[in-house]
Parts: sequence; structure tokens; C-alpha cells
Amino acid sequence: MNNRELPILKLKPGREKSLLRRHPWIFSGAVKEITGNPKCGDLVEVRSSKNELLGIIAYSHKSQITGRIWEFNPIKNKNIETLLIEHIASAYELRNTTNLFPSTNSYRLVHAESDQIPGLIVDIYNKTAIMQLLSCGVEVFREEIAEILLDLPEIESVYEQSDAVVRKLEGLPPRSGYVMGKVCEESISIIEHSIHYAFPVNAGQKTGFYLDQRKNRLLLREFVKGKDVLDCFCFSGGFSLNAYMGGANHITSVDSSEDALEALAKNIEFNEFDPDKFDLRCNDVFKELRLYRDQGREFDVIILDPPKFAPTRKQVKRASRGYKDINLLAFKLLRPGGILFTFSCSGGVDPGLFQKIVAGAALDAEADVQILKRMAQDADHPVLLSFPEGEYLKGLICIKK
Ligand code: SAH
Repeated sequence: MNNRELPILKLKPGREKSLLRRHPWIFSGAVKEITGNPKCGDLVEVRSSKNELLGIIAYSHKSQITGRIWEFNPIKNKNIETLLIEHIASAYELRNTTNLFPSTNSYRLVHAESDQIPGLIVDIYNKTAIMQLLSCGVEVFREEIAEILLDLPEIESVYEQSDAVVRKLEGLPPRSGYVMGKVCEESISIIEHSIHYAFPVNAGQKTGFYLDQRKNRLLLREFVKGKDVLDCFCFSGGFSLNAYMGGANHITSVDSSEDALEALAKNIEFNEFDPDKFDLRCNDVFKELRLYRDQGREFDVIILDPPKFAPTRKQVKRASRGYKDINLLAFKLLRPGGILFTFSCSGGVDPGLFQKIVAGAALDAEADVQILKRMAQDADHPVLLSFPEGEYLKGLICIKK
């Protein structure tokens, strides 16, 4: 890469501070001028108002995030492919030389900005890598990234699942399917803490596995022996199946997606678990909880693991009402001494705000509640200290007195 040939983005006076703190984004409001007419994904030099070279970014013409950093202080003049190889290798090493998440064949290999590859998420499911390209910067290196992934030990196939909403903000269309290597069968077999999950690939289906909840799912086993458990937003059964493993008396699993419940039913069968212990309910959780309240039903353990109610700060108010509503209902449905596992994966809701919302819910439910433990995303979703936005999953284990 020859820096002299790159287009230049000049920042407004004083707007270089976040880059100097090694935060990886440049917002459109910080930009004074852009010369050289870059296109989506092009490499661009960032300069301060005093013309000091601060880094090389991937340019995005449509997003509010005009640039995502490839390299700070780019004195080494590496090309981006070398950089990708190095950062993916380092992410791989981190995941495979520690014993932080044993007993599984699946993990997040690259956690985007937090692994210094803005916009790239890669999950490994058994021998298959599934990549999500979420920004223009990585979109232009699609083939190169797939090749690097296929070169990793044990990886046999590379799939893409670039269908997240954020792609729209970057002006990128959704895309999913097979990219390189061996074409997978209908489903991939995932093992996590002795539970088998059939993970569907192919056909561009919307899938996922929520690897971030791994250690929290395991933790649930400590609280459920002989208990009646209600798993809300159960998806393919991460928490429900762990409740069974922990010796729960009965498990009610609620999700609004029939596909999710079908996957859960298959997983119950696959693991040869007793189906009579489960009740699978296809309904909106907000409605189902009200139904139980009106029926006077009670539970010993409730899990609330909703989807992202607030992807950005803009939706925080509405999201807060949603969180409060389900938590309030859950506190009402819990027997005295009952346990609530409650989560938020909304980037816009920080742990302090989440705790306040849950406190407000307990107050309105007239319940005295203690926090027993705080939870977060598992270690294969690390948080770069200069990018606190990478910390998104927070959870509380609460006991109702
Ligand atoms: N706990 C799961 C992951 C939950 S993902 C695990 O550990 O694997 C969120 C789930 O919420 C999805 O399956 C989605 O179908 C479901 N969902 C979203 N909105 C819902 C609603 N209003 N009511 C019920 N389910 C909903």
C-alpha cells in the first residue's frame, strides 16, 4: 500500500481525540473534508485538522460511521490482507490456547472491532466457519477473508450470513449462503457442555446459536434441581436444555418462532431427553406472561433472554419499557425464593440502566429482590478496552424474597 496515493479525510479541529484514544470509528460529524473521491470500502488516510496522519480507515459513504480503522499510526505500510491474516491468527490463538471455554466445538472466532477487524464477525460451528460482513471495509475483502478462514486448522467450509440490519446502514444488500470449501449437510452438529444441538445451515435460513450465553446457560443448571422452569425467548433451547440437564422438574419454553420451537423439539429428541418434561409454547412472550398472570400460574425459575430491543441509543426509551414489562410480569409469576435470570443484549442499554429497569420492575411488582450474580458475554466475545461498545450482553441472577 502506498499511502501517498490514498484519498484523504480531514477531521474538524479537536475531533482527533477519540482516534488518539484508539477508538476505531470516525463519525460523519467529525469530518471536515474528504478529497480523492473514495468509494465504499476504499482505504483512506485520516488526518487531523493540522494535517497529522492518524491512521488508515475503510471508508463508508452511506453510514453515520464514515470510517472504521484498519491501522493506527500506519508507519508499517502493511497491506490489508496481511493485517487480516495477522488479526485472524491472533484471534484464533486466543481462542485455542486458553481453556476459557472447554467442552464445546463451537465458538466466536472474530468479534469485530473487539478483535481489531471492524465489521467482521466469524463463528466456528464444529468445522464450519460462518462469517458476517457488516461493513463496507470487510465487504471488499470477502474472498480473501473466506480463504484465510479455510486455511485455519480443521476448518472445512465457509458460509456467509451477512443478513444483519446494520448492513442496510452501510448501503449493503443482505447476502447468505455457501462461500468456499465443503458444502455442508442440512445441519451442523454442535456440542456444548454435553448437550448436542443440530444447527441448520444452507438455504439462506436465518439461523444463529447465541454462543455468547454459553457460560450463563451452564450456570442455570445450579439453580433448577426439582424446579418448575419458564424459559422465555427460548430459541432452539439453550437454556431449556440446560435446565433439563440440571434436573428441572418441568420446563415451559416460549418463543414466537415456530422454526425455533421445531429446532428445540429436534434437540430434545436428538439428546434423548424425556419430552414429557417440556411444554413448548409458540406465542408472544408479552402475551404469554399475561396469560400466566391471569391464570395465577407460578414458577420457581424464570429466564428472560429477549432479542435486542434497542440496537442503538435511539430506541432506548421504548426498549426500557419492554424490559420493564417482562421483568415486572416475571417477578409476579415467581414463587417466593424464586430465581430470575434476566438479560439484555441491547448495545444502547448499559449495565447501570439495565439494573435500574429491573429495580423499577421489582418495585412495581411489590417484590423484594436481591442480585446474586452479574453475568456477561462469554470470553470468546472479548471487549477491547478502547471500544466499550463491544460489551453488549448483561444479565442478572435475582432472587425474589
Ligand atoms: N435464549 C436463547 C436465545 C434467544 S434469542 C438461547 O440461549 O439460545 C431471542 C429469541 O426470541 C428468538 O428465538 C426469537 O424468535 C424470539 N422472540 C423475539 N421476539 C419475541 C416475542 N415477542 N415473543 C416470543 N419470542 C420472541
